[in-house]
Amino acid sequence: MYDPKSLKAEEFIDNGEILDTLRYADENKDNTELIEKILAKAEERKGLTHREASVLLACEDEKLINRMYDLAEQIKKDFYGNRIVMFAPLYLSNYCVNGCLYCPYHLKNTHISRKKLTQQEVKNEVIALQDMGHKRLAIEAGEDPVNNPIEYILDCINTIYSIKHKNGAIRRVNVNIAATTVENYRKLHEAGIGTYILFQETYHKESYERLHPTGPKHNYAYHTEAMDRAMEGGIDDVGLGVLFGLEMYRYEFAGLLMHAEHLEAVHGVGPHTISVPRVKRADDIDPDEFDGGIDDDTFAKICALIRISVPYTGMIISTRESKAVREKVIRLGVSQISGASRTSVGGYAEEEDEDDNSAQFDVSDKRTLDEVVRWLMELGYIPSFCTACYREGRTGDRFMSLCKSGQIQNCCHPNALMTLKEYLVDYASPETRKLGEELIEKELENIPKEKVRNIAKERVVKIEEGIRDFRF
Ligand code: SF4
Ligand code: SF4
Repeated sequence: MYDPKSLKAEEFIDNGEILDTLRYADENKDNTELIEKILAKAEERKGLTHREASVLLACEDEKLINRMYDLAEQIKKDFYGNRIVMFAPLYLSNYCVNGCLYCPYHLKNTHISRKKLTQQEVKNEVIALQDMGHKRLAIEAGEDPVNNPIEYILDCINTIYSIKHKNGAIRRVNVNIAATTVENYRKLHEAGIGTYILFQETYHKESYERLHPTGPKHNYAYHTEAMDRAMEGGIDDVGLGVLFGLEMYRYEFAGLLMHAEHLEAVHGVGPHTISVPRVKRADDIDPDEFDGGIDDDTFAKICALIRISVPYTGMIISTRESKAVREKVIRLGVSQISGASRTSVGGYAEEEDEDDNSAQFDVSDKRTLDEVVRWLMELGYIPSFCTACYREGRTGDRFMSLCKSGQIQNCCHPNALMTLKEYLVDYASPETRKLGEELIEKELENIPKEKVRNIAKERVVKIEEGIRDFRF
């Protein structure tokens, strides 16, 4: 029985409700009157339910689809301006006891090299990341209670936050580790993590159990209810995601929005972020073996509809996607991207080794951070290294209420410019710096509040003089 307020996975992600939603969407995919009504509601920037959004996803009318794209673009501009937040993944360990069929780290893969970073190696990785200019990381580790217990993850977080190399610092560590207990989530919260990210992979229970035949991850309910335990453990900001390509995308899309509605109904705050990965080729993994693959246009439509349905939720895309795809979906609603990512354990500090097969997936966008930053600016975006909210205690419902009142805009824009200035002074190539300085000069004038504008201008000068870490 569908109940968004239930704490039972099978009730807040009710299979019957998803199937009914898909049927309803099919019946109404040509119902222009209904679609117009849904679009009018979306224009009010209040989001859409999973049913409404599913009708839009089923709609095949090109004109109406273009209206969805235009609206997504406008909502993106209204809430996120032209800023794109930058981050990098950091792989700590690829030991894993699970049997996920789509991931090369699965236990039975005996030809992948297994690695776990020592604290010294974590330090080396962090220095390499700081030297590129990164301030925000997402740490990743397989599930292995012997090799990667929670104490190991906590040690790594402490090490990461403790390293101050030249002007560098990692100011926000987001964590992407397996579903765990309330007690462990509390420990992560106390260690000062930013967002806890856990991809559902697929919301379809039967497929989920087939794709996760062995290991603790096999337990669908335990995995699906993880965000509720994380919130019980004090983590305010949680990040959802499905691995598009495993199951029928329309099923996943409805499930994803139902999960967001569940968090809002139970905890009063929806997901902080939604990630949109697609299955990629890797050691022992052929994406063609999964029949739910989606083309780039469908992928773009999904991104646009997520933007429309949950306007306040950040959307993340990784270097799994090519430059061209990234360019398209950034316009339609993505607010955070990774840059210069290595998806292998120890990949940042070590020399690139052609025989190394410890990567989790093939990276499509292989450009350096400097190249990605320059590319974004050439497209008219402001690359932002901002981490201010979590450090100012603006998390969970505090963050969301600021977002909903539009007040957050007075922080994001100047913070983006100040952190970009830090990047330009400390890490950028001369060409990137030149472009960035011009951009900052122009964009400082776009800060609406005079007082904030003047403070930001003074701070930009102080950054030039060597002072760091200003924030609104
Ligand atoms: S997806 Fe995660 S849990 Fe599954 S095999 Fe890969 S690392 Fe392990
Ligand atoms: S001010 Fe907050 S919401 Fe805005 S970019 Fe910075 S961390 Fe993100």
